[in-house]
Amino acid sequence: MVGALFGCWFRVGGARPTVVQTFMSRSQVALLGLGLLLLLLLYVGLPCLPEQTSWLWGDPNVTVLAGLTPGNSPIFYREVLPLHQPRRVEVVLLHGKAFNSHTWEQLGTLQLLSQRGYRAVALDLPGAAVAFLEERAHQLGLSCQKVEVAPGYVVTVLTWPGTNPSLSSILLNSHTDVVPVFEEHWSHDPFEAFKDSEGYIYGRGTQDMKCVSMQYLEAVRRLKVEGHSFPRTIHMTFVPDEEIGGHHGMELFVERPEFRALRAGFALDEGLANPTDAFTVFYSERSVWWVRVTSTGRPGHGSRFIEDTAAEKLHKVVSSILAFREKERQRLQSNPHLKEGAVTSVNLTKLEGGVAYNVVPASMSAAFDFRVAPDVDLKAFEEQLHAWCQAAGEGVTLEFAQKWMKPRVTPIDDSNPWWSAFSRVFKDMNLTLEAEIFPATTDSRYLRAVGIPALGFSPMNCTPVLLHDHDERLHEAVFLRGIDIYTQLLPALASVPALPSDS
Ligand SMILES: [Zn+2]
Repeated sequence: MVGALFGCWFRVGGARPTVVQTFMSRSQVALLGLGLLLLLLLYVGLPCLPEQTSWLWGDPNVTVLAGLTPGNSPIFYREVLPLHQPRRVEVVLLHGKAFNSHTWEQLGTLQLLSQRGYRAVALDLPGAAVAFLEERAHQLGLSCQKVEVAPGYVVTVLTWPGTNPSLSSILLNSHTDVVPVFEEHWSHDPFEAFKDSEGYIYGRGTQDMKCVSMQYLEAVRRLKVEGHSFPRTIHMTFVPDEEIGGHHGMELFVERPEFRALRAGFALDEGLANPTDAFTVFYSERSVWWVRVTSTGRPGHGSRFIEDTAAEKLHKVVSSILAFREKERQRLQSNPHLKEGAVTSVNLTKLEGGVAYNVVPASMSAAFDFRVAPDVDLKAFEEQLHAWCQAAGEGVTLEFAQKWMKPRVTPIDDSNPWWSAFSRVFKDMNLTLEAEIFPATTDSRYLRAVGIPALGFSPMNCTPVLLHDHDERLHEAVFLRGIDIYTQLLPALASVPALPSDS
C-alpha cells in the first residue's frame, strides 16, 4: 500500500535531467498540438505490431533518457531516440489520468517506437499532483479548491469542515515539489518508490515531504471512516514550489483573499528526521541572507605591485566574515545545549572575477549564504556587514540576493494553547519531543510572518536525515507510525476550545 501511495505522484515535480536535452524549448501548446497531430499520423501510418509481447516488454537495448525542460514551468519527460533508421515523424506521448511517462516506459511503448525508428517523447504535464489531489478529495468526500497564485503555480486546498464554523481552522501544509536527483548515485530508481526487503522505501520525497502529505490524507481518511467530527475545520494545503523558495507558492498565497478565507488559527508544516528515538519539532527558522560583496580596485599588469587591488580588499572582507563564521562554529561546538538553528552560519559559496593570469582585475566578488539565528538584531547585523566592507577600503559594496527580515518564533510553552494541545499528544503517547529552530528555511516562515503560529513537524524518528540526499528513504514502519501520530494530533488540535484570537 505504501509503495502504491508514493508511486502515485513521485514523478511529479522537479527531477533534474539525468541526460539534458536542449530540443524542448518550444512551447507547451505547440507540443500539445504536435502530439495530437502525430498520434493521429501514427494511428494511420504505424505498421501492425508483430506480436503483443514486444509491445508489453520493450527492447532492453533501448536507452530511455529522462529530464526536465528548461524554463520557469519545467516539464518532466522521458525520451527515446530511433534505435535504427530514423523515420520522418516524431512522436509525443502525453499523460492522461492513468498514464504518465513512466507508464509509457513500463508498457514498452517508448522502446517499441525507438525500435521502429521513431523519436518519441513522453511528457508528464504539470498538474499531475493537482489531479491526484482532486481524486483524493473526491474519494475522501472533501472539498477541493485550486488557487493559481502565479501562472502555472497552483495551491490546492482540501477541506474537512468543522462543526463550529466560528472557530479558526487548522492548516496542514505540505509541498508537492521535490529537489533534483543524481540517478547514478541511487541504489534504486528514485521515482519508483522501491521498497527493499527490510522495509525501507526509497524515493525522492520519501522524507521531504511526500510522506507527510500522504500521512495527512491517510489520517483524515481514518478519522472520517471512524465517524469522527471536530469543532475546528481542517484544511490541507499543497503548495507547488517550496524547494525554490516558495516565491510562487506560499509567499503569494498568504496575501490572497482565498488564504484569509481559510481563517487559519494554527499550522503544521514540514520538519526533519531525527536519528534518535525522539521526534523533532521546529518552532522558528533562521533567516536566509544571500549577500554578494563586490570589490573594485586598480587594474594593471600581473607582474607589478599594484596598490589598492580589488583582490586585496575582497580578501579582507572574506577574512572578516570567515572569522565570524569560526566564532559561531565554536559557540555551537562548545555548548551541547545549542542546536545548529540557534547560531548564525555562513558559507563562502562563489568567487568571481578576473580574465587572465597576467591581468589584475578591476573588480572581484564573493557570494555568501548566511543563515541568521532568530534572536539576532537584524539591523545591527546588517550594519556589521557594511562595517566589514568599509574597513576593507574604498569601493567595496554589498548587495542582497535574498534578505528575510521577518523571523518569528512560535511560543513553546503553556502560553500557547496550540503548543499545549500538540505536546500533550506526545506525552499521552509516551513519545519524546525535542524542540529546535529550523536550520534552513521552509514555507512556515510565510505563515508565521502573517501571524499564524506554526510548528514544523515530520514524524520521523530513528531515521537518518536524508532529505535532498542520494538514496533518500524512509522505513515503512516509521511512515505508518506517523499516520498513527497524526490520527491523535488532528483530533487534539481540531478540538482546542474557543480562543480570544478566534473572534
Ligand atoms: Zn521540504
